[in-house]
Amino acid sequence: MSKNAMPAPQSAGLSCPSAPATPGAVMIGIVGDDGMVHPLARPLPVDMDFVESASRHGPPEARFRFSNSCVEGACQQWTGRSCGIVAKVLDHLDRQVEIAPTDIPRCSIRATCRWHAERGFAACRACLYVVTDQSRERPAAASSSR
Ligand code: SF4
Repeated sequence: MSKNAMPAPQSAGLSCPSAPATPGAVMIGIVGDDGMVHPLARPLPVDMDFVESASRHGPPEARFRFSNSCVEGACQQWTGRSCGIVAKVLDHLDRQVEIAPTDIPRCSIRATCRWHAERGFAACRACLYVVTDQSRERPAAASSSR
C-alpha cells in the first residue's frame, strides 16, 4: 500500500471524477492551455447534444473533465476493491509534480468522489493534473482513461 493509501470505502453511490463524456454525466472541469484542469463551481449536466457537438472537435475528455457514477467492477480500472486509476495518478505525480500540501482545489463533487473517499486530499491535490484523454500531448498531466 502506498504512502497515500487509505482503507477502501465500503459505500456504494460514489462518483467517478474522470468519467467518459456520456449523456447523464456532469462536466466538473475544463482543461486550460496550461494543461491543468480548472474546476467548475457547479457541475454542468451533459446530454447527447453536448456530446455530439463537443465530439466534433476531438475527444471531449481531452478538453473537459466529467463525472458519473462509479461502476466499480464494470470498469476496467477497478482493482477488485478500489480505483486503480487514482493509485497510478498519485504514483506518477508524486515523482513528477510538486504539489503544495495546502493546494486543495474547490470541487463540486467532493462529497461523493471515489478518489477523495479512497485517498483524501492527496487525490484532490493531484486531481488538477489529470486529463482523462491523453491523445493530445500536455505537460505534466496524467491519463486516467477507463
Ligand atoms: S478535487 Fe478531490 S474530490 Fe474533487 S474530483 Fe478531484 S479528487 Fe475528487
